[in-house]
Amino acid sequence: MNTRAGIGYDSHRFVAGRPLHLGGVVIPWTHGLAGHSDGDAILHAVVDALLGAAALGDIGSHFPDTDPQWKGVDSAKLAREAVRMLAERGLAPDHVDVTVILERPRLSSHIPAMREATSKALGLPVEAVSIKAKTNEGMGWIGRGEGLGVFAVATVRGASG
Ligand code: MG
Repeated sequence: MNTRAGIGYDSHRFVAGRPLHLGGVVIPWTHGLAGHSDGDAILHAVVDALLGAAALGDIGSHFPDTDPQWKGVDSAKLAREAVRMLAERGLAPDHVDVTVILERPRLSSHIPAMREATSKALGLPVEAVSIKAKTNEGMGWIGRGEGLGVFAVATVRGASG
């Protein structure tokens, strides 16, 4: 049995009039995230971290935004699909750690629900999913509220080396 680590990053632009999907939940806010799918940048970064740990490419190669199949898709479905691809290779997610960087809205009260939903999508206990949020201290495109950025690290375990 061995462990591999993967890193993921995602960013999405805020747009008015779309529900804000983040970490598998909908957060009440004036803006949502642009994107072909539901725009859930946390789940996208997590999927990239999982795929990276398994050296299976990236989210864009498996779920291309040119494919109508993934239009408006619930990103939890992409997460479940990534876990299935890992399982085909004898691998399973072990732990995920996420940092979201955004100016607004404040996410602290939503973190427990996001951890719960994300852990569910990955088939992990909630204790194995960490989600943290911080601002960019008003600097740059994140500071201006144009969008948000997400970093994720995942560990994956398996017998297949
Ligand atoms: Mg994305």
